[in-house]
Amino acid sequence: MLYLHNGQYQRARELEEYLQSNPDLNSQRRFAIGDFQPSGFEYSGRHFRVVIDSRVRDLSEYFLLNIETVTDWLAVNFPDIQTQTTFFFMDGSGPSPFNGNLNDVYLKVGHYRKRPHDCEIVIHAIVHEITHLYLRNTLGFRVCPEEFGIRKFFDEGFAQLCGFRAANAFDRKRAHANTCARAVTVAGLSYLGDKVNDWDATVFHMRYYPLYQSALSFVIYLEEQYGNDTLVKLFRNSSCDKNFNNIIIEKFGIAFQNLLENWAENLSDISSTDETEFFKIVKTKRTDPQSLQVEYNSEFSLYPPKDILVYNSYAKQLPVSSNQRFRYQETGLFTIECPANTPLNFVIVFDNELQNISIEKCL
Ligand SMILES: [Zn+2]
Repeated sequence: MLYLHNGQYQRARELEEYLQSNPDLNSQRRFAIGDFQPSGFEYSGRHFRVVIDSRVRDLSEYFLLNIETVTDWLAVNFPDIQTQTTFFFMDGSGPSPFNGNLNDVYLKVGHYRKRPHDCEIVIHAIVHEITHLYLRNTLGFRVCPEEFGIRKFFDEGFAQLCGFRAANAFDRKRAHANTCARAVTVAGLSYLGDKVNDWDATVFHMRYYPLYQSALSFVIYLEEQYGNDTLVKLFRNSSCDKNFNNIIIEKFGIAFQNLLENWAENLSDISSTDETEFFKIVKTKRTDPQSLQVEYNSEFSLYPPKDILVYNSYAKQLPVSSNQRFRYQETGLFTIECPANTPLNFVIVFDNELQNISIEKCL
């Protein structure tokens, strides 16, 4: 990270190659940063700059066409922002980690395409990551190891909210988040609580679980009930020497668990999605005793692990994974982990559209 920060791209590449050739060291990494080949093209703005890898230069230029709207949004919403962030637009796919001390973000854009839908996702990602850095470096919020899950739940929910608002996708993504969250809360809140506490395991090993959508839906509920100011006050100076549960009680008047219960109750009353038919299962094929491969066709671009929730007849969510060159696709393949003859219930969500499909017995 330091080599990239200092523009020592050759040394960064050598280190990356060394790590990748060493399976032991490689397996200890939470994520691979990847190498960076500077294109020489960059965007430089008031609150952030973007440096671009030569392999994604064309694509990145497209994503940056209306980037001034993001700068304007930040000026209005984070007027006291104190730091400038550098984004490395990189090739490949994977998580987009940031380094809070260096104020650098490593955004993999290689799995997107030149389309308004993907542009919206990239704009969201930029503001999402800047929100984390704003909470951390301007407001003094920390995600402390002892209270990791609960702090991440608020941190990610708020970053999602700001990202989608800046990308002008707030209403549609609120509907998406509420639909996913309703599926989670129907099965009971204690399971969600476990997933929040076990944050890293959930994010890295249960990518299909709608944790970020739940966080977004929850934070939107708090904003609607208590106001954006209260959320900002919650984050301000919430350093690790303070108990986060106590700060929550101080700002909202009730404990986290009670807030979750009120949110779940409120969710069951709202219906924000229209049930339509936009998705078709074209073919299913059993690839091994535990895996069913599904070929789909959809009017909208879907990223299966985030947009397709699959449950068995006991309302247990089943793992969905996909491994495609482009993340969001109208036609594609995904895999469900399920033994043969399992009845399946699909909840397919795109923005404010929802479709339910039941299969009595899969192969
Ligand atoms: Zn985040």
